[in-house]
Amino acid sequence: MGKIFGIDLGTTYSCISYVDEFGKPVVVANQDSSPVTPSVVAFEEGGNTSVGQAAKETLNTDPANVCSAIKRQMGKRDYTFSAFGQEYTPEAISSLILKKIAKDTREVLGEEVKDVVITCPAYFGMDEREATRQAGDIAGLNVLAIINEPTAAAISYGLNLDSPQTVMVYDLGGGTFDVTIIKVEDRQIRVVATGGDHQLGGKDWDDAIREFVIGKYSEMTGESMDSIYDDLETMGDLELKAETAKKQLTQKSSAVVRLNGQKIEITVEEFDNATRSLLESSIEKMHETMDAAAQKGVTSFDKILLVGGSTRMPQIMTRLKAEFPTTPIEFCDPDQAVAKGAAVYGINIAAFPIDEGGDAPKPLTEVDKSNPIFSIGGGKGPIKIVNVISQCIAVRLVVDDNGREEIVNQIYKNTELPYTKTLPVGTVVANQTSVYMEFFENGSMDEFVPEDLCKPLIQGELGPLPANLPKGAPIEMYFNINEQGLLSIDAKDMTGGVTKHLEVMLQSVLSKEEVEAEKRKVQGLKIL
Ligand code: ADP
Ligand code: MG
Repeated sequence: MGKIFGIDLGTTYSCISYVDEFGKPVVVANQDSSPVTPSVVAFEEGGNTSVGQAAKETLNTDPANVCSAIKRQMGKRDYTFSAFGQEYTPEAISSLILKKIAKDTREVLGEEVKDVVITCPAYFGMDEREATRQAGDIAGLNVLAIINEPTAAAISYGLNLDSPQTVMVYDLGGGTFDVTIIKVEDRQIRVVATGGDHQLGGKDWDDAIREFVIGKYSEMTGESMDSIYDDLETMGDLELKAETAKKQLTQKSSAVVRLNGQKIEITVEEFDNATRSLLESSIEKMHETMDAAAQKGVTSFDKILLVGGSTRMPQIMTRLKAEFPTTPIEFCDPDQAVAKGAAVYGINIAAFPIDEGGDAPKPLTEVDKSNPIFSIGGGKGPIKIVNVISQCIAVRLVVDDNGREEIVNQIYKNTELPYTKTLPVGTVVANQTSVYMEFFENGSMDEFVPEDLCKPLIQGELGPLPANLPKGAPIEMYFNINEQGLLSIDAKDMTGGVTKHLEVMLQSVLSKEEVEAEKRKVQGLKIL
C-alpha cells in the first residue's frame, strides 16, 4: 500500500502530511524547508508558473499575474483568472497548488503522491466541495475523500473517540474563519453546527495594518492616500510587509513597516484597535453557531480548540478567555493540525473502507491492523464522521391558484447526512406536458426565501408527462444527500406508475469534459 497523504488546501497556506511507520502524522516540508506553502500561483510569459513563496514574492514586481486566495472563488462558475491570454478556473489554479505540493513531496520523500484526502471548510456547499475534488482530479491525484477542516483538526488533536465529549473548533486562517461544534460519541465525530465567514481571515488583519501604515504615511508626507492605493506594486509590497509586521506583533510590542523610505511604527495597542471590529465579527459569528447548536440541544462544550495560523495573535486567546472564563482553550497545532488529521483519516478509510451498502464498514483483510498506524483515537475501530449540510436546499414551487411562485426551503442547513426526503407536489395546470424544476442553495432559515438570497444549484425537466393529465396530477420529488454531501433528486410522475428518472447536474461544477480541458491546460504549464 502506498502512502496516503492528507492535504490542507488553505486559502493562504497549504500543507501536506502522511502517517509514518510509528503511527504518527508528520508534515512534509517543501523545497524551501517550510512546513507550509503559500497558496499563491504566479504566471510567467511562455507557460512557466511558480507556486508558493516565490510566487508570493512576485506580488511586488508583477502583481497582475499573481493569483492568491483562489479558495474564496471555489465553486464559482463566473470567475476565471486570466494570465497571458489564457483563462484559468479556480479548479485549475487550485490544481497547480496541489501539483506543486505533490512535486515537492516527491522530491523530498522520493515517493509519488497519489492517494489523498483533501480538506475544506465545514461550511463549503456541495459545489465548492465538488470543485475541490475536481482540483485534485486535474492535478492527477486520486481523491479518496474531502473532509471538513475542523473535523480533521479534532482528529489530529487526538480526541479520545471512546469518551463522549463536545468541542468547539475556532479556526481563523488566512482567508477564512470557520467555527464548528463537534460531538464525539461511540467513535463517531458529529458536526453539530457549523458557521463562520469565508471572507474573514488573517488577510483582513494584514489589510488593517496596510491601511494604518498608508494613513500614517500620508499624515507624515502629505501625499494623498489614493496615490498609494492606485500603485499596485507598492500595494503588493505593503501586503507582504504588513503580514510580516503582524507576525512580529505576536512576539513584540511594536513593529516597523518601511514605505518609500519612511519608517512607520505600529504598536500592539494600535494594531488591536485597528482590528477590533474584525475580532468582534468572528465572536458574533461564533455566537450564531452556538445558537444553532443550542437549537439542537447542545448548550455547552468541554473544550475549545484553536486552529489556523491567525489564532497565534494574542488578541484571540485574550478575547476567548474573557468570553469563556471556565472552559479550557487549547492550541491545536495551528498550521499543521488539519493536514495531519486528513492523513490520519486517510489511513483510517484504507483500513476500514466504507461499505457501499451503508452498513458497518468492512476492514481490508490485507492490512495488518496490529500496525500502530491503525490505532487511532484511542481505539481500534473506524472513525465515523457524521456531516451536516451547511446550506439550505430549496425548490421553486407554485404556491397558490393564481400561479404565484415562491422559493421554498426543503432541507435546512445543519441537517445530518445521509438524508432523504420525499416531497409530494402536483401539476399546475391540466394537460401539463412537463415539469421544470429549479433547486437553490441558501443560508436563510425561513421557509420562503427571497430569490436574491439564493444561489442556483441545479435544474432539470421531468417529461414528457402522459397526455390528458388533470391539474394537480401527483408528482413526487425524492431528495437524497449522501454522506459526502452530494445531492441527487429523482422526480417521479405518479399517475400511470411511470417512473421518470431525472438527472440533474450540479450547476457550479465543471463537467467531465471541462475537467479534461483544464487538465490539458495545466499539463502545458511547467511548475518551477
Ligand atoms: P489558511 O488555512 O486559511 O490558508 P492558515 O491556517 O495557514 O491559513 O493561517 C494563515 C494565516 O495565519 C495567515 O494570515 C498568516 O499571516 C497567519 N499567521 C501565521 N503565523 C502567524 C503569527 N505568528 N502571528 C499572526 N498570524 C500568523
Ligand atoms: Mg486552514
